This record gives sequence, C-alpha cells and structure tokens, in this order.
Amino acid sequence: MIYFGASYYPEQLDPSAVEPDARLMQEAGFNLVRMGEFAWSRMEPDDGQFDFDWLENAVETMAQHGIKSLLGTPTAAPPKWLTDKHPDICQIQLDGRRREFGRRRHYCVNSENYHRYTTRIVTTLAEQFKDNPNVIGYQLDNEFMAEQPHCYCDECREKFQAWLQKKFGTIEELNRRWGMIFWGQSYRSFEEVIFPKPGHNPSALLDFYRFFSDSFLNYARLQGDCLKKISPEKTVTHNICSSGFVYLLDLYALGRQLDIVSLDNYPFAWMIENEYGNLGDRPYRPSMASFALSMTRSYKRAPFWVTEAQCGRTFRPRNLVEPGIVNAWTHQEIAHGAQAVLWFHWRQFPFAIEHMLQAVLDYDGVPRRRYFEIQQTVRDLKKVSAEIAGALPQPEVALIRDFQTDWALDDGHPHQDLKYLRHLHLYYDALFQLHVNADTAEPGDDLTRFKLVIAPSLLLVDAARAANLRRYVEQGGTLVLTCQSGLRDLDNVFHAKTFPAHLRDLCVFEIGEQQALKFQDTTGIAPVGGGWKKERYECPLWFDVLKLETAQALATYTDHWFAGQPAVSVNPFGKGKVYYIATVPSAEFVSEFLGQIAAGCGVRSNVLASSSPLVESVKTRRGTDEFLHLINYTREPQNVTLDGCLENLDGNAVVARKFELKPFGAAILRRK
Ligand SMILES: [Zn+2]
Repeated sequence: MIYFGASYYPEQLDPSAVEPDARLMQEAGFNLVRMGEFAWSRMEPDDGQFDFDWLENAVETMAQHGIKSLLGTPTAAPPKWLTDKHPDICQIQLDGRRREFGRRRHYCVNSENYHRYTTRIVTTLAEQFKDNPNVIGYQLDNEFMAEQPHCYCDECREKFQAWLQKKFGTIEELNRRWGMIFWGQSYRSFEEVIFPKPGHNPSALLDFYRFFSDSFLNYARLQGDCLKKISPEKTVTHNICSSGFVYLLDLYALGRQLDIVSLDNYPFAWMIENEYGNLGDRPYRPSMASFALSMTRSYKRAPFWVTEAQCGRTFRPRNLVEPGIVNAWTHQEIAHGAQAVLWFHWRQFPFAIEHMLQAVLDYDGVPRRRYFEIQQTVRDLKKVSAEIAGALPQPEVALIRDFQTDWALDDGHPHQDLKYLRHLHLYYDALFQLHVNADTAEPGDDLTRFKLVIAPSLLLVDAARAANLRRYVEQGGTLVLTCQSGLRDLDNVFHAKTFPAHLRDLCVFEIGEQQALKFQDTTGIAPVGGGWKKERYECPLWFDVLKLETAQALATYTDHWFAGQPAVSVNPFGKGKVYYIATVPSAEFVSEFLGQIAAGCGVRSNVLASSSPLVESVKTRRGTDEFLHLINYTREPQNVTLDGCLENLDGNAVVARKFELKPFGAAILRRK
C-alpha cells in the first residue's frame, strides 16, 4: 500500500469545513492525512484540561471517506500558558537572552519541566487514540533541530558537563584529548566546563554538537517510549527537515529509534546551499532532491515516508513550480523508496507566518491546477502501486556520509568553500549523470555489499574506522578517498603521524604538502594516459602533494611548484583497489573518473544514454522483480536508450530500445 495525502489543520477550521475537505481529498485519491503537530493549545487549552473532541471528529470524518490519520505529537509548539507558567522551558540563546513566545521550536530540549509536560500530553494523546484503528501512527514533534536547536541554559550546561564526565572519566583526560593546554585553558573540574562558542576549541565544539544531537535523540526516545507503551502496533516516525540536509542531528541514530523515517522534501525551496547561507537563485538540479531521498532511504536501509512534499510556491520567489513538475517529483520520491507522499499542505493558510506557502488548494478551497495535477498523478500511481509497493533501490555504490566529520568541518576550515555536503554532492551528481544509483553509509557500516564506496573528505578516521575500510577493500571492494580524508582522530585532533595516518597502508603514499587555494590561485590536473576528453581539468580549492611509494599516478598537477607531481593515485590492496583524489576537481573530471572506475568494478548504468542530464533513472527490486523508474525533469520530451527488453507497467506494452518520456513525464518499466 502506498499512501497519498496532505497535512491538514482542523484546529484552524470551523468543524463544518472538514467534511467537504475530506470529500475532495477522497476524490483526489488520498488515503492518509497528517494532523495535529502544532495543536497543543487546542489539545490542552489550559494546564491539565484536555480537549480531543475536535480531533476525534476530524479523524472520524476522514475515516468515513476512506482516509487514515497520522497524528503529530504537538511539542514543536508549546502553548502560551505553559511558557508563562514555566519560562525556564524556553531556550537561552547564544547571546544569553531567553527566547520568547511567538514562533515555534523555542523549547529547551533538556528541560525537565518540558519533559514532564511532554510526557503528559503525549501519553494523553496516545490513550485517546489507542483503540482507534483509523489512526495508523504518530509523528514525533516536527522537524527536530530546525531553527536554532542549541540552548545555553544552566540545565543544559549541567547536563553537558555530566555527559562529558561520562565520556572522559576524569577532567585530566578531557584536557588532554581536547588539547586544553593551548592558551592555558585547562579545566580543574567538569563543573568548570563552559559551553564552547563559535571560535572556541574545535574538539570542544565537536562534543557540543554530539551532546545536542544526543539530547534530541533522548527527547525523541522519551516520546517514542510513551507512545509504544500504549500502542506498540502503531507506527512511530519523525519528519526530517530542510530536505534532509539538516546536519546537526545524527539521522542514522534517529533512524534506529523510529519505525519509519520521514522526510520533508522541497526540491526547489531547500537545497544544500541553503545550509551554507547562499539563498540566491541557482540552476535547478534534480540530483539534489535525489541525494536527499537516497540519504533518507539509507538511514534505515528501508522504505520511508515523505511527510511534506512541495506542491507550489514556498516563502521566497524561486524556480517556477510549473505545470507537470509535481508529477516528476512524486515519481522521484516513489522511485527512491517513499511509501507515502503527503503534500504540504491541503489548503493555503490565510493567516500567520506561512500564509505565502501554496497548498493543494488555494485560500478559497476551490480545486484548481495543483489539485487536478495531483489527482491525476495519484490516479496513475495507484494503478501500479500493488506491483511496486515495497520495491527499493539496491545500489552497488555508496557514499560515506559521516555526521561527525560534517560537524568537525563546520568551523570553516580548511577552506571556506570546501563544504562537506557540497563535496559529497559533487560525486553524487556525477553518479546521477551516469545513471548509477547510490546509498549513503556510515564509516563503520558493513560495506561489503557495495562494489564501489566513495568517501569524500572523510576527515575523522581512527584505527577502527580505518580497519573497517581496510576489511572492505581486502575483500574486493573499490574505495575512493579524497583530500581531507583521515587527517584527524575522533576528538577532532590532527594525527601526529605521516598523512594519511591510519589510511597510509591502504593508499601507500605520503602526503608531503597540502594547502588551500584561494582567490586567484587555482591549479589543474592532467590525466596520465589516454581516454580523457580534456588535457587539463580545473581544481580550484585544495591540493595535497603526494609522494607515491608503490601507488600508481593516474593524474598529475599542471601548475605551481608541484606541477608534474601526482594528484590522483590508485593502489591495489588485497582483492580490491584504493583510489585517492588529492584535490577537488571539476565536475567534468569527477564524472569521467567515476565512469571509468564504475565500469572497472562491474557497476553498470541503469540505461545506455539519455537525451538530457535532467533525466533520472532509478532501478528498484522486490524479490525477483526488477523495475526501472524513468523521470524527465524538463519541459520538453526526452529520449532514453535502454539496454534490453522492458515492459511498461502503464498498459504492459513492451518498450522499444528508444523510449520517449513526455515533458515532466515518468514511466515505470519492468525488466522481463
Ligand atoms: Zn536548555
């Protein structure tokens, strides 16, 4: 079963509006609504006074139209009476001021008072709906760690100190591992430890990020335990914000706590660059949402839900959400493993901060283009949902995404433009163009099911992480490492070993010199041997100079005093190979390079060719069935060249070698 639906806010409406909305949803083919995630002030209008009648009525009305309900715990929006009664539940900001009532997510995640009220409202909600079969599950809170997640209150600081004591045991150990002798900052006791601020010790900052990630995981566990104690059979999920590019919460760890992971997916409105403060217009890259969806699938290696799917304009003027593109996005979500697509949201808010966000319906509730397009997409996908439900991509390639490395690099070093996720996306985008699907993985995962593993900027590598990578290559894996890999330990301290430290026996070279390239400085690399489109590829950000021992050079630098020195190397190790790219090359080099090594290790493209780089192919499997999803993100028809005989699920016609996709069109084919 695949769910389709929308977020719905009956607490904002006259009760008489729910039935006509439910009817229109049913006519659109919807079978799930998400409700309640900001409705604490309606669920508990005053301390200890509960009112769920309005929500029960909405659940019942939806059920009469064949629509199940996913209920949000309302804790992202503590009510006014609660913040008045316990001002201490509000965060203290970096500037020392307490956050005020007026927005959302202003609670302190470690507040015992907030935990107490959370336990009560979540338990009461669960009790209320425990016997209601129309409520299939709960969404914890809303978008953990969106909007200023860190709190600097005394309660958080004391818990941070206790967290450090548990980790380090003695203050001497903390001083040693953080390097607090630098500038004479050594602590005498854990009670002395302050919250690190931007510009403070990088090891302290990394533990600060870890502590708050753990704090939100604890808070999620508190809520999940309340729900599961009462309704173990109901699904517990949480919606990841910012298209999944949020990076202050360890989402692999969150995934392990949830029954299913959910994503709020805004292909136009939220891209990696938003995380890095670049809000200007950028060309549309469907590989960006593809990357977000692949990461979401990888947190549990399982199907997931899209709890918010973009269906129109958001806050700011961006790319046009033109007719047809929502169809392409929906197919993209389903192809990557979504088992629910809930558009955000049902009917445009006439008031408040999100009143510019377009919804399925306009302010007047009259169905227009967006409604009819979604209705058609749902109709098309429902025809094939029984056949494809549960089918999932099973990529042969993985990118290592390590949250701790991301946080360690967040202080702007070694180069302000060498950003972790941007570097990962450089490689993901190249795979997208090659029509090769990829998962993401943690450095400690069992990687042996992948033929090719790419680990851009895997900065933090200790002996255990290196041993896992070594095991993978020994058994026949192909590993791609890049500059900034293996330089620091898990405390964010540089190894006092010849670089690349624990990875040296894999790479079999030493890094003699390394620097950032800025402003007018740039370098290039020239491939060794033939088969390349160009003689020189631009590399503007960074260089390592490699002194090869037994490794072989595949490209050399073209500029500066290190011209002619190796820039890309390969070393056979065990049954596998290790490639090292000592710089951040242009996308065209990465694409050619990955094309060559993917072919070399037996990774095949999903299709032979496509007429546009804005066409995506996703191969999925369920048992012995293999499907090929093709999606066109352009407003023109596009062609895809297939490598065999496939059957179109839309009519079961056998598809010719050359297959045409309509503008913003998609197809699901089955390999015969
Ligand atoms: Zn706090």
